Amino acid sequence: MNKELFEFLNTDLQFIKGVGPVLAARLDDLLGGRRILDFLLHKPSYVKPRGMIDSVMNAQAGDVITIQIKIESHKAGIKLKNGRRTPTQVLARDNMNAPVSINFYGASFLDYWLEKLPIGEVRIVSGKLEFNNKGGASITHPDFIEKVETADKIPENQAIYPISAGLTQKIMANVREQVFAKLATSNEQPAIKDFFDAIKQVHFAESNDDFLPTNESVQKLAYSELFAHQVAIALSRAKRKRGIVGRMVSGDGQLREKLYASLPFKLTDAQNKAITEIENDMARTEPMLRLVQGDVGSGKTIVALAAALNAAECKIQTALMAPTDTLAQQHYAKIKPICDSLGVHVDILTGRDKGKSRTEKLISLKSGRTRIVIGTHALFSDDVVYKDLGLVIIDEQHRFGVAQRAALCGKGNNPDFLALSATPIPRTLSMTIYGDMDISIINEKPVGRLPIKTTKLGTSKLAALAERARVQINSGAKVFWVCPLVVDNPDMDFMAAETRYNYLRERMPDDAVGLVHGQMDKKERDKVMEQFADPNGRIKLLVATSVIEVGIDVPHATIMIIENAEKFGLSALHQLRGRVGRSDIQSFCVLLHGERLTENGEQRLDVLVNTDDGFIIAEQDLIMRGAGEMIGTRQHGWVPYYFVDYREHRDLFKLAAARALELANNDPTLSGADGHAARDMIYIFGRIAKIDG
Ligand code: ADP
Ligand code: MG
Repeated sequence: MNKELFEFLNTDLQFIKGVGPVLAARLDDLLGGRRILDFLLHKPSYVKPRGMIDSVMNAQAGDVITIQIKIESHKAGIKLKNGRRTPTQVLARDNMNAPVSINFYGASFLDYWLEKLPIGEVRIVSGKLEFNNKGGASITHPDFIEKVETADKIPENQAIYPISAGLTQKIMANVREQVFAKLATSNEQPAIKDFFDAIKQVHFAESNDDFLPTNESVQKLAYSELFAHQVAIALSRAKRKRGIVGRMVSGDGQLREKLYASLPFKLTDAQNKAITEIENDMARTEPMLRLVQGDVGSGKTIVALAAALNAAECKIQTALMAPTDTLAQQHYAKIKPICDSLGVHVDILTGRDKGKSRTEKLISLKSGRTRIVIGTHALFSDDVVYKDLGLVIIDEQHRFGVAQRAALCGKGNNPDFLALSATPIPRTLSMTIYGDMDISIINEKPVGRLPIKTTKLGTSKLAALAERARVQINSGAKVFWVCPLVVDNPDMDFMAAETRYNYLRERMPDDAVGLVHGQMDKKERDKVMEQFADPNGRIKLLVATSVIEVGIDVPHATIMIIENAEKFGLSALHQLRGRVGRSDIQSFCVLLHGERLTENGEQRLDVLVNTDDGFIIAEQDLIMRGAGEMIGTRQHGWVPYYFVDYREHRDLFKLAAARALELANNDPTLSGADGHAARDMIYIFGRIAKIDG
């Protein structure tokens, strides 16, 4: 692509009119990046029709409508005895003279809203229609208020973006307008131009059909994405064949023997096999590039530690990177006591380390005294210097981009690389997804683990379930209660964690219920987590959202309750369920679902009820279609694709892989026209940091 386009794509979102640094930071949280490109890759998830109608009498509760109203009066909200306030009401009549009230809660911005709806004037408003029990129609906090002259600002069909705290659809629509007004591709090669045309189609979708996997634009984007990924893999594979030189790492086994002797259990065959495979890789000169796949609880940490000790025996450093502070802390807490007893210095480095203590940690790393360092992104900050980083381990590697992997590996000299993943992917896909990696599979649970008893339950049994949870808590159990968090999706009624928290607090012993979610202050969240993780802590039941890192280890938690289970992807459910069943005590999982399950929904949940094998579940997740894919597919996905649908685009996988291989063979330096286009796609999808021939 041309330099202008490249620079445009890399522009910081804060420079867009109406955005600025505060919103840009929020967008960064949502998009995982703050460039215009990051926004372009974030597609709306559905289209909301907001049809213009004559009267509220022609619509039903819950409909999103657009109507013309004449404002008659303003009525201030009043404070009730219980401390709540009634809404401030703008009383109006629609085109058929039916009364409708436009309601506003809270005191902030009230004047602003009322000025937009002056008495005696005509306005067009658009929002979700509700009726009270006397049949009175109302719209609360309308999405749009316009004068008749500017009514065309209200889209007939509004593309709705997934958003997070502090963002609105208005903000997203504004960013979209500004970005596409400036996106200029007329001087680009046809391949690039077509690509951005397809992106535009998706962002300006007018009907839900525009998101179907069979839609031409969607197919084009999915193919481009797969192709970019496949070319990156093909190049990486070719590069390995040419033989970059790392070094042979083969310790004398002293530390590992001590480790095994200190464990209160015997390693499973699958663990032993994975360790042997890793040791063989490390003993070769070309750098290891291996993925260890194993269900949650299969014992990957020990495998990783064995690899790190192999390196430590050769006086080589290991960096273990986890996606969140909490996970890093947890690895550290597990590994530190073992390493202490072996006399191996281990440290932790995260964004929380500041000032003097951080400086000391960096000195220790640079001197080589620290043999194993555990942490987050902080591990590859500019000022972090290793004496001799020879092994890089990344936990939950699908949550990192390849660029981050490259950045951390860049701190050493072609270090060995080991990825850990708790997300089993269907065998039919692993070649195309992890084509450049060798794979070890841990498909065996430690002995003595009882299978988790899983049941599905309709929400009408909620009260009985809460009562059962109470009884369990009183006899010492720890319970997870997961609610889906989906922001701004009024069309789907998902249980909100806060609502459930309040409900359960009334029914459980005093102070026994805790709440954590992604929009909470981090310190506050950690405190709650600690009180739950501590066997003697006051919190016995933890209400959490699915986006929170339930990756934390609470071995004595034995009950997992998941609400709206039918709305989750199977692999996501399996991940959540894996948070219990981590000890030799019997664990339970309850899949709470709406009373009216579709046949497909029922079958999907039955897969979970009937098997605990992550690979089978992943395969079924791939095959079975259903309404459930909306939650958890990206967070827990196999590879965070933007546009690819695993089920519907399976044929595109093969096509993309074949074409990528052809290109990599014909033009391994990507210097021809097709090669350049491929480079651009690889850049756009962030598959690798840079292509060095
Ligand atoms: P993963 O990271 O794969 O989810 P962990 O490595 O955290 O799993 O292991 C889960 C728990 O199982 C830990 O408490 C660990 O000490 C224990 N464990 C690991 N391997 C075995 C084994 N072979 N036998 C019994 N317990 C084991
Ligand atoms: Mg783990």
